[in-house]
Amino acid sequence: MKTYPVVIIGGGMAGASLALALANAGIKNAVFEAVAPETNAQPGFDDRTVALSAASLNILKKLGLEKDLYSVAAPIKTIHVSDQGHCGFARIDATEGGVPALGAVIENWQLGQALNQAISSQPLIEYHAPAKVVDIEQSADEATLRIELSSGTEEVKAGLVVLADGARSPLRQQLHIDAQINDYHKSAIVCNLTTQLPHQNCAYERFTQDGPLALLPLTKNRMALVWSKPTKEAQSLVELNEVEFAAKLEEAFGARLGRITKVGSRKSFPLIQLKAETLFRGRCVLIGNAAQSLHPIAGQGFNLGLRDVADLTELLAAAKNTIQDDELALMQIVGSYQLLRQYQQKRHPDREQTLWVTESLARLFSNSWLPLSISRNLLLKVMDTAPVAKGLFASQAMGFGFNNSQMASHEE
Ligand SMILES: Cc1cc2nc3c(=O)[nH]c(=O)nc-3n(C[C@H](O)[C@H](O)[C@H](O)COP(=O)(O)OP(=O)(O)OC[C@H]3O[C@@H](n4cnc5c(N)ncnc54)[C@H](O)[C@@H]3O)c2cc1C
Repeated sequence: MKTYPVVIIGGGMAGASLALALANAGIKNAVFEAVAPETNAQPGFDDRTVALSAASLNILKKLGLEKDLYSVAAPIKTIHVSDQGHCGFARIDATEGGVPALGAVIENWQLGQALNQAISSQPLIEYHAPAKVVDIEQSADEATLRIELSSGTEEVKAGLVVLADGARSPLRQQLHIDAQINDYHKSAIVCNLTTQLPHQNCAYERFTQDGPLALLPLTKNRMALVWSKPTKEAQSLVELNEVEFAAKLEEAFGARLGRITKVGSRKSFPLIQLKAETLFRGRCVLIGNAAQSLHPIAGQGFNLGLRDVADLTELLAAAKNTIQDDELALMQIVGSYQLLRQYQQKRHPDREQTLWVTESLARLFSNSWLPLSISRNLLLKVMDTAPVAKGLFASQAMGFGFNNSQMASHEE
């Protein structure tokens, strides 16, 4: 039976990033991904977009993806936050954070392509797809996984099993790890579009009565829309024709960028917040959406998942350095209670605060109750005029708020 120090279940953005980060640290690993990459059906690498914070860009740069990403990602130079029907707005500029950009926007499939290409040229990674993990058994010394491959069912052993299998992870349930789930009963409408006026690399976040609406800059003067609406309404909006949809969107967003001239294909995604009650059980550890899934209001889901990757990699690399090339010792140490407990403790403040900030924003900015509407307008005004508030917001938006990992920092 094949044995690996680390097995990663799920080759989405979190799992693929971890595979590369571990290989860069000299740790051999195997990825098992349920969907074959050439089918273009891998759910994490669809035509949604992801706004990457400056901290995330630092992590991806350290994974060797700088060249691939800089040619396709659009930098965010300004963030403009406003409230529909009220005058309050805030504008945060990259120069206020002393950086050339607050982050960058990339289409998920492009990030997927860059990650999968880097994985294919990394000899320390064994990538298997389609390969669905259907069962995990654990003993004190190792974990055994049962995997359905196109050639039949196989078993492999691992010192550490990383669950990067997404929010609905049935394997997390199989390990009896409960999760708190908050269903917002809303869905995000997602599509790419073009506007009459150039976006000038500004990301717009606009709060409407039903929920937030984000327009993010993309290359070739396109923009990515993420528009939260009650689920039924979202479905009706997705079914409108292009002209009708553009008119509804112009009504909600206003005329800042002139007319909406072209709308791409639309999809809607149900919105939940999910938090696993623990980040490990036995030799199994959770990262990315399997550990927590966020409302997209602040674009923090993958950014937070990437900081899981950075922290777990740092702990595993440090552990590897203590035992040199002893493979048996590596199998033991990577899935040890001490190491996984340290990971859980290290992730605690960043995870709690990011979940809290995201949940609070989702509530504060999705409510038309008058006192709340007044306080959020005050908040936007304060943010636009007070340098300290702006600095804090910029730091949070750039992903430096709660994380001190080496991979996320500017230093090499
Ligand atoms: C509308 C919307 C907008 C968003 N915008 C942003 C943003 O701007 N910024 C941001 O940071 N985040 C954003 N996010 C969040 C981000 O998309 C997610 O955090 C990220 O995709 C999660 O990646 P993941 O790898 O953890 O999980 P997934 O993408 O769910 O990947 C899980 C993978 O595991 C595989 N898998 C599942 N079960 C098994 C199994 N048993 N065996 C093998 N493989 C398995 C699946 O096939 C899949 O490929 C947004 C989300 C939504 C819905």
